[in-house]
Amino acid sequence: MTEGEGREPLADIFRRLIANTGPISLMHYMGEANARYYSSRDPLGGAGDFITAPEISQMFGELIGLWLTDMWVNAGREVPVHYVELGPGRGTLARDALRVAKRYGLEPQIHFVETSTALKDIQLETMPGAQWHHDLSSVPPYGPVLVVANEFLDALPVRQLVKTPDGWRERMVMPEGEGFVCVAGTQPMDAAVPEARRNAPEGTIIETCPGAAAAVYEVAGRLIEQGGAALFIDYGHDQLRDGSTLQAVRAHLKVDPFVGPGEADLTAHVDFATLAQIAQSRGVRWLGTVPQGRWLRELGIEARAEALAQVAPQHAAAIDSAKERLIGEGQMGVLFKVMGLAAPGWPGGAGFHG
Ligand code: SAH
Repeated sequence: MTEGEGREPLADIFRRLIANTGPISLMHYMGEANARYYSSRDPLGGAGDFITAPEISQMFGELIGLWLTDMWVNAGREVPVHYVELGPGRGTLARDALRVAKRYGLEPQIHFVETSTALKDIQLETMPGAQWHHDLSSVPPYGPVLVVANEFLDALPVRQLVKTPDGWRERMVMPEGEGFVCVAGTQPMDAAVPEARRNAPEGTIIETCPGAAAAVYEVAGRLIEQGGAALFIDYGHDQLRDGSTLQAVRAHLKVDPFVGPGEADLTAHVDFATLAQIAQSRGVRWLGTVPQGRWLRELGIEARAEALAQVAPQHAAAIDSAKERLIGEGQMGVLFKVMGLAAPGWPGGAGFHG
């Protein structure tokens, strides 16, 4: 299953690179580690490393499909219209969302923005009609876009700055023993820290995600130019905060992010507050950033679960426990957030009021 077998371990490549040119930035480390990780396997599902909401239950994709349909219908059913998914994994969310959308006459062109060839093969089986893109730039520039990104932004590499006795420095990575450790870089980075936070106490870490900022900036630009709406769903916070949120998951367990790069999924919390500001700075409407549990409840997940259980009573318990995983407080209901964006003139969108 892994085309990574037989390839030189990424840890060895990093060691050689660092021996030649010195420590690499944490952002470089995370970016390369995830590129290797995603290109060499299907990480999703029970047999993989982690499970995501669309893989837990069809209800997740279906309710997203209803949300997008409602937006599109209320905005006047413009065609052509594009469904654009960033990091679509196994294509499960798209399949569930678009099956529901079709019942209401929404049959968009399907665009998957995906870098992993291993996942692309699986997506091709799930959604044979989709077009693939390496990044957003090749998505057609006309017709509204309905954008979805679930657990995409958290996989993009973060940059970390740390306050040292000599001022702000970028966090760099170098080998130590079996794995790697973070050290402070030698270049002064004070200018990269916002005024208000420059005097933070020694040891303070500031984490930013330039890739997430760029993705939201670009999506916002498309919404302004072409119309449409977007949903970004991820775990993260809606208040600015300090500290590192980098973590690694392998076989459903948290592991050390600095051992075996490329063998585990590296993620960081998504800073939704900053992303909302970026979208608004382009003139897009920020509909809100709300807990996933609340959003799914407002969209009617309870009724959907009951309807599914009536059709398949033998699965009633499984349907109920899947629903709980998606909306439960100690589960995905609170930690995960849904951020909605819409083009000017587009409707407000269900689930963002209240
Ligand atoms: N949305 C899916 C998969 C989440 S895993 C789900 O919810 O199940 C993260 C996804 O983002 C994978 O499809 C991965 O290959 C993709 N990905 C990670 N980094 C990427 C990048 N820089 N550009 C495009 N896709 C990326």
